[in-house]
Amino acid sequence: MPLRYLFVDMNAYFASVEQQDFPHLRGKPVGVVPVVAETSSCIAASYEAKAMGVRTGTPVWEARKLCPGIALVLARPERYCQVHTKIVKAVGRCVPVTKVMSVDEMACQLMGDERKPENATRIALAIKREIKATVGDTLRCSIGVGPNIMLAKVAGDMKKPDGLTFLYPEDLPQNLHALKLDDFPGIGSQMLKRFQRYGITKTEQLTELSMRSLAVVCGSKVHAARWHGLLKGEDIPDAPTRRRTVSHSHILAPELRTDLGARGVMVRLIHKAAARLRTIEHWTDAFSVSVSYLDGPGWSATVRMPSCQDTLNLLLIFSKLWDEKEVRGRTPLKVAMCLAGLTPSRCATPSLFEQDRQLTVLSHVMDQVNRKFGKNAIHFGTLFGAEDTAPVRVSFNNIPKFNPAFT
Ligand SMILES: [Mg+2]
Repeated sequence: MPLRYLFVDMNAYFASVEQQDFPHLRGKPVGVVPVVAETSSCIAASYEAKAMGVRTGTPVWEARKLCPGIALVLARPERYCQVHTKIVKAVGRCVPVTKVMSVDEMACQLMGDERKPENATRIALAIKREIKATVGDTLRCSIGVGPNIMLAKVAGDMKKPDGLTFLYPEDLPQNLHALKLDDFPGIGSQMLKRFQRYGITKTEQLTELSMRSLAVVCGSKVHAARWHGLLKGEDIPDAPTRRRTVSHSHILAPELRTDLGARGVMVRLIHKAAARLRTIEHWTDAFSVSVSYLDGPGWSATVRMPSCQDTLNLLLIFSKLWDEKEVRGRTPLKVAMCLAGLTPSRCATPSLFEQDRQLTVLSHVMDQVNRKFGKNAIHFGTLFGAEDTAPVRVSFNNIPKFNPAFT
């Protein structure tokens, strides 16, 4: 089995961009925050801040306590997007980029002789040099090389910052045994709980499971087959999604059976659906919402819109629909929403408007924080009533953790 992929993961990406653009921040602890407020949390930390215990998700007040001199800087999603484009180009000059996984990660398929370890090493070192020379010398990356994208990413995570790590297929699965179960992308807290229920606490136990036992543990034959193959180093293409819609509905608890309560729950459903849309890598161009009432006929509305994938645009559309709703004073019982007209990301035409593109990047950034950050989640806060004037703000709040894996 060959070394098919090389995975590039930028180290402390947002913080490194800030240190690149603002030399006085270099060599200093830096925390990047989505909004300047003590209740906010870091969405990235420089290595100097990480050394003091600051992590993605550390609340600002705690970051100041752990690291009194920390420089807290406001996130600039548009800038991270610009630098991302430069990085993809720099990597592309060394080896073609097969798949951009996120704002700071990409996978490159190796072909022919590139799969020989000495050549893959040469390419990896060229990538590091090219990024430093053409994007900025504070931008470091960890590179992993492995037989599939998942294992190449795992290899990259093994040494940070500035690592280069190989997971050789001939050493599988022994070379995975030192890893924790949640070192594998896609194994989140829910999956860990399932594993625990079956007494699986070590990677070695996971790699020893038969496909059949794995299906019992995962609760899905499809996921089991996928994981079974991936852990053995097989190159398994992404599961095709044949879905046409993403929809959610919710019966309102008695105390939420008001116009305001229904609206609030709907906003949460939209956050959830939009994150799901991005996880399955689709775009939507039709959006519908409906409310059933205890004391009268229901209300529903549908709109078609330019392809979109970001939470804020959907919230703005919803807000407009809701304000135009003529039903007042009834008792809502159930709310439902549906995103339709789904197109896979590779086929969707991103908006021509810079602001829309920026919002999409911002949504992806929020997803990343939500995946990494255990207890809390990030979401759009004080939005309504100030859509035209308020800048995009993000705030933290307790909403149930959305785990994109195995859903
Ligand atoms: Mg990274």
